[in-house]
Amino acid sequence: DPEDRVFNFAAGPATLPANVLKKAQAELYNWRGSGMSVMEMSHRGKEFLSIIQKAEADLRSLLNIPEDYAVLFLQGGGTTQFAMIPLNLCKPDDPVDYVVTGSWGDKAFKEAQKFCKPKVIWSGKSEKYTKISPYESLEQSPDAKYLHICANETIHGVEFKDYPTPKNGILVADMSSNFCSKPVDVSKFGLIYAGAQKNVGPSGVTIVIIKKDLIGNAQEITPVMLDYKIQAENNSLYNTPPCFGIYMCGLVFEDLLAQGGLTEVQKKNKKKAELIYKAIDESNGFYRCPVEKSVRSLMNVPFTLEKSDLEAEFIKEAAKEKMVQLKGHRSVGGMRASIYNAMPLAGVEKLVAFMKDFQARHA
Ligand code: PLP
Repeated sequence: DPEDRVFNFAAGPATLPANVLKKAQAELYNWRGSGMSVMEMSHRGKEFLSIIQKAEADLRSLLNIPEDYAVLFLQGGGTTQFAMIPLNLCKPDDPVDYVVTGSWGDKAFKEAQKFCKPKVIWSGKSEKYTKISPYESLEQSPDAKYLHICANETIHGVEFKDYPTPKNGILVADMSSNFCSKPVDVSKFGLIYAGAQKNVGPSGVTIVIIKKDLIGNAQEITPVMLDYKIQAENNSLYNTPPCFGIYMCGLVFEDLLAQGGLTEVQKKNKKKAELIYKAIDESNGFYRCPVEKSVRSLMNVPFTLEKSDLEAEFIKEAAKEKMVQLKGHRSVGGMRASIYNAMPLAGVEKLVAFMKDFQARHA
């Protein structure tokens, strides 16, 4: 039964809105009278051009993206951006700064070491990535070309609630796991990037929002596919793009606009996250979330059981009740409930009821 779906708490690829999947299903075989599936279309034909242009226009209105920013639909995931950013924004000897609030920020920093001179100016590692530094105490490198942050650490559940203003250079943010989950003032950033597969589409599409005056300075060794200038001049169509993925992102953007835009989406996300954190905090220590309250993620809720030997049982029983993928990342253990945009409130309510019931049976 195709209606018999589970509540998927995976960190990614994540659940997609049911209405979006149904719309794609209805259009799968013959897209709007074109006689073809989107997967079969020329990426240079008028049909696909209308799809990618609408997707960009809708994203621009969702995030209020200023005119002097380019929007790129790329491939290679967030991971490719870890290299593409230093390759394009600095020369091999340039200093750049990284604030490392979890594993993803750390990976971004390590990749940048191949292409410039990055420095970790703050790391949450010694406190197991449960905090974010107060911005006033961040000491940036003189002449740093950019300050890189991971806006939401998917594994550790640590999320920036507002953003530091770099004294030197521009702010660059990995928004892979909280992209389009709330309004963002794009003008504060030089570059924002995100893999689509958590909040806005299937994997295979990576979205980059970059201030146009930063484009055109790639290092000489930069492969064509990794040069923002080539991608921007060709409107993301230098080579064959991930057409179907871009189409799916477009359907999600339409859906987010129909929900009332990102202010409304944020309200829903807050409500869902609060329900789970409340259940954890009111469990008398049966459940625990290690993350400092002020920076707890609205997207990824990591938690453990005081009686850690019960964790496998918790995950197994939840799966039996059609709540799947609740196992924490292998590097931190415990559980993790990822509750991106498309997770319905009903899924979170069901999880919270299960948590209470599980506690009553095992406390
Ligand atoms: N950045 C963050 C915050 C992530 O959560 C992930 C993947 O989960 C990545 C980067 C890597 O993304 P990708 O798998 O698209 O390369």
